[in-house]
Amino acid sequence: CGIVGYIGNRHATEVIMNGLAKLEYRGYDSSGVAVNTGCDLEIRKYKGRLSVLEQDLDKNPVEGNLGIGHTRWATHGAPSDENSHPHYNMNESIAVVHNGIIENYMQLKEDLIEKGYRFNSETDTEVLAHLLDHYYAGDLFDALCKVLKDVRGAYAIGAISKDEPERLIAARKDSPLVVGLGESENFIASDIPALLSYTRKVHLIDDGEIVVLTKDGVQIYDCDQNPVTKEVMNIEWDV
Ligand code: GLU
Repeated sequence: CGIVGYIGNRHATEVIMNGLAKLEYRGYDSSGVAVNTGCDLEIRKYKGRLSVLEQDLDKNPVEGNLGIGHTRWATHGAPSDENSHPHYNMNESIAVVHNGIIENYMQLKEDLIEKGYRFNSETDTEVLAHLLDHYYAGDLFDALCKVLKDVRGAYAIGAISKDEPERLIAARKDSPLVVGLGESENFIASDIPALLSYTRKVHLIDDGEIVVLTKDGVQIYDCDQNPVTKEVMNIEWDV
């Protein structure tokens, strides 16, 4: 399982597919991407090898410089196209990828269904998409902070909104997450090898931290939205 996210000037899908391939060693049963095309979120996700997703993207490319990608190791819900990530809210304006397990997803799901939310998958992860929708008031970072107060469990999360083409939001607790720092581009990934084709400068994100990435900068916050300063690690080794 793995996560890769990109914001910058390159084709997001190229960076994401390259990065996900480097994370294959972690194991997976499905994969997917969501890209902000400037006017929409385009989501592609399939059960099976990364090559299934790759063939789809080759045939029918997705243009955009901001995106998130995922390889899934199913814990809740069998491997299927529907259960693959990214997951999204009902009007497909918010997309989210997640590694880990949301332990209290059943209760959250019941509450959301009562509020009128409809689910497309059997995953624990999908509650994150609808909860983000529930709290969203124009600021995805703020919405994710609120969501994380409701959820228990382990997570590395990447999220994007159609209405915020300049921002990628990420968070972690008990699942690995690193940030890669580039020139007019920035990255998230589950592990450093996914980033090494692009940068050797990384931040190791700690439990409870939330990250806001733009093309020109990265800001890290604790769960109470206080800024955190963190050293830049220079990776000397090769894969
Ligand atoms: N629990 C989530 C699911 O089953 C994420 C699994 C993963 O870490 O890939 O969809």
